[in-house]
Amino acid sequence: MAGQRLAVWLLLLLLAAFPAGAQRYDPGSFPREDGRIVEPESDLALEDTSARQIAGTFLEDYPVSRERYALMPGTPQETAVTKITAREPGKTVYVVGGVHGNERAAWGAGLLLRDISIARGTLYVLAPANARGAREGTRYVRDKQDLNRSFPGQAGGDEASRLAFAIFSDIRAAQPDLVLDLHEAITYREGVDFLGNTLIFTRIDGLEDLLLDLTLDTQAGLLGSAPFLPSGPGPEGSVNRAVSDLLQIPVITVETFRGFPLELRLKDQLQIVEYALRHLGMLE
Ligand SMILES: [Zn+2]
Repeated sequence: MAGQRLAVWLLLLLLAAFPAGAQRYDPGSFPREDGRIVEPESDLALEDTSARQIAGTFLEDYPVSRERYALMPGTPQETAVTKITAREPGKTVYVVGGVHGNERAAWGAGLLLRDISIARGTLYVLAPANARGAREGTRYVRDKQDLNRSFPGQAGGDEASRLAFAIFSDIRAAQPDLVLDLHEAITYREGVDFLGNTLIFTRIDGLEDLLLDLTLDTQAGLLGSAPFLPSGPGPEGSVNRAVSDLLQIPVITVETFRGFPLELRLKDQLQIVEYALRHLGMLE
């Protein structure tokens, strides 16, 4: 078993070092302003569409119960968690959509996931995780308070820290088998020409095969608009790092590339979530 895990890790490291599918990108083709790749405009109305329409995913309808509860009620950060419970018992997954407010496909995918159904287990969907940031189109909760550097947070901290604490506490209470943390990759960094689709993990004990299959299938063109590369660990203070290290719950952070059209990024996010739910036996 240990040897098998070692082999998986070595393969993941090899993939990160030699991205087989990287040549499928053509960074030169993206419109730029001051060196930054410009996020394409979109007038897509999320309320008029569904995961099925955008991504062709979640095609089955299963009988589920659906309840919704608020985090940070009565504050500017107030947001909602949707808990979807299948008739049949199974695994539990917690989706955190849009810790950064300007990552539209991340919280947009979360909003669409609130309406899906599952065959087995329990699915929690928090979207938008950073509601105020999403409303204002900014990465931050307020000023330069970065929610993804504030975990696990404190009940008496600044606004990002209080929100982080509420989210961290809700994940701890749910005790999921996996957290999917939906983000979008930055499109420009000094000295780096292109940052693309990424899957970030800190510890993935027991789910190595999920991460490996996800990566290989995107490399092979079977999943996603372009290859996803594994990377890690999550940065200090991120939901990925805090939940992995303090709760020993595996987290996969999905980063879609903001140079692609919104519809494509939503599709990637939704198809990856579906892939993970299927892997865990929550879909038929
Ligand atoms: Zn982000």
